[in-house]
Amino acid sequence: MAVDQELVDAAIELARARFPGQDWSGAAALRLDDGAILTSTAPEVPNNAVRLCHETGAICEAFKLGRRVVASVCVTLADQARGYWILAPCGVCQERLFAYGRDVAVGVPAGADPRRWRSLRLRDVQPHWFGRVFPEEEWPY
Ligand SMILES: [Zn+2]
Repeated sequence: MAVDQELVDAAIELARARFPGQDWSGAAALRLDDGAILTSTAPEVPNNAVRLCHETGAICEAFKLGRRVVASVCVTLADQARGYWILAPCGVCQERLFAYGRDVAVGVPAGADPRRWRSLRLRDVQPHWFGRVFPEEEWPY
């Protein structure tokens, strides 16, 4: 299932509710195989080297529930005037999402305006992913 406006809106809604009026805030939303949406955001910590991604909490929650992740999107608010930007998942989150297969859909910016987005599958975001050389270990297990 592709990233859709409902999923993007869920991430933006959490970011707005949790960080009203705060620049450089963000959140993520994941869709599960049963259609449910999980959202999460990342805490600020003194040492940036140990920060978590906005997706991390929802990925852990999906695992706790025993559900497959089928789509993921992450948003950030650079400043109020420029609106919410769509962030492609970082390399670490891509690896976490690959546990649900190469067809997980992720939101990525569309063109030069990061407020616009499109949905791509992980296999298209990272076509040379290391795990594809191990076909006997096709994820998800
Ligand atoms: Zn990440």
